[in-house]
Amino acid sequence: MCPECYSEKSRITPLLKAEDCLKNHTQYICGTCGRCICIERDKVRGLQRWNFPFKSLDEARLYLRTADFTMKKSCGIYEITSMGGRKSYKIFADISDLHVFLKKNREKSCEKMSSIFEIVEYREHPDTQVRKLTEDEIKKYLEEHLCKSK
Ligand SMILES: [Zn+2]
Ligand SMILES: [Zn+2]
Repeated sequence: MCPECYSEKSRITPLLKAEDCLKNHTQYICGTCGRCICIERDKVRGLQRWNFPFKSLDEARLYLRTADFTMKKSCGIYEITSMGGRKSYKIFADISDLHVFLKKNREKSCEKMSSIFEIVEYREHPDTQVRKLTEDEIKKYLEEHLCKSK
C-alpha cells in the first residue's frame, strides 16, 4: 500500500470518465506513487468526490487520502445501510459528521456506529501537489491508466 495515498494501484483512479476528470478537475497528485485523485470542489454545493457515497469499501479507500488531506486529519469510512438493505460507504471527518448525516437521512443507518477503516495517524508528505495536470501529463497518465487497468 502506498504510504501516502493508501492504494496498491498507482494508476487506478479516476474510476469514471477518466479523461474528463483529469482535464477539468484539480487533482491531488500523490508525491510518492504519482496517483491522481480528484479533489475538485463543486462550485454549487462545495462538495468534493470523497463527500459522495461509494459502492464499496475499496472505492472509498481510493479517495480517503483526499478527505484526510482536506480535513488535515485522519477521516473514517463508514458502512451505511439504506432502507432496502443496500450498503454504501461514506467518508466522514469524525463521528459527529456521521450523526449529522443520519439525522438528515432518516431512512439510512449505520450498524456499527464507528468507522470500518481509517489511517492510524494523519501525515503530511513533502512532495504532494494539488493542481490541474498539463496536457502532456494527462496524455501520459491516461496511457498508464488504460494499460494498468486492463
Ligand atoms: Zn474529477
Ligand atoms: Zn500514492
